[in-house]
Amino acid sequence: MREKFAAFLLIVASSFAYFIWEAQPDGLLHIYILNVGQGDAILIRTPNGTNILNDGSAGSSIMQELGAVLPYFDRTIDYAILSHPDRDHIEGLIHVARRVKIEKFYMNGAVRDNFLVRGLLSAIREYDIPIILADDSKDILLDDGVKLDLLYPFKLPLNQKDALNNTSIVFMLEYGETRALFTGDIEKETESEIVAAGVDIRADILKVAHHGSRSSSIQPMLDKIQPKIALISAGRDNKFGHPHPEVLERFTKMGVAIHRTDINGRIEIIVSPTDYTIK
Ligand SMILES: [Zn+2]
Repeated sequence: MREKFAAFLLIVASSFAYFIWEAQPDGLLHIYILNVGQGDAILIRTPNGTNILNDGSAGSSIMQELGAVLPYFDRTIDYAILSHPDRDHIEGLIHVARRVKIEKFYMNGAVRDNFLVRGLLSAIREYDIPIILADDSKDILLDDGVKLDLLYPFKLPLNQKDALNNTSIVFMLEYGETRALFTGDIEKETESEIVAAGVDIRADILKVAHHGSRSSSIQPMLDKIQPKIALISAGRDNKFGHPHPEVLERFTKMGVAIHRTDINGRIEIIVSPTDYTIK
């Protein structure tokens, strides 16, 4: 009996040790394009274990995805960044705000009087989450050498009549020699504005704008970015026809490797100070 109890204690102790070990950051930057159907949800876990969530897709499938990639004992989102309040970006964040601790919430201030915006704002109030209205001056500098350089919107407040997609927060993630550009759902008008403003958007990795829609990824923008890898978040057989074959062809012609959640499922990129690999 005593041996059985000792064995039981050993199992409990080793499971506990495993969970503690699993929660330790591994000194590398991880970018997860989560497998959430039609929408965007991207988790960035930095070398010191800071968790940054960019969008939450529609529905609540993000909760399962976060459960799969976040360590059991580290389920805090340090920074949540909503690119723009369309359903396929905002809805999952309402579930996250109600079930996971969020330290800071970045949004662009675009408001629409609908149940999703009201639902998010009421969760933010209820859980007392600080809001940062993010324009291009609100960069995030972390002590492990990771920088989130906010590039767009150029100025706030927004013109509330602008199409929501074109108000999306755009940011560059920089770590060591690698740069990754996240573009929400911006379309050709905002892409032209960013190109015309001469913003440095060179990046190795590109989260393709608006799920690979034909109204985004204009050639002058891609010429400036010169990506090596294009990441597309889209639902399998989605009704919008995302990603559009013309956009895929633009990337293929440039020799860019394309990774798609509708084909590959969840995508993980692991970044060291000098290199990156895709899983
Ligand atoms: Zn979208």
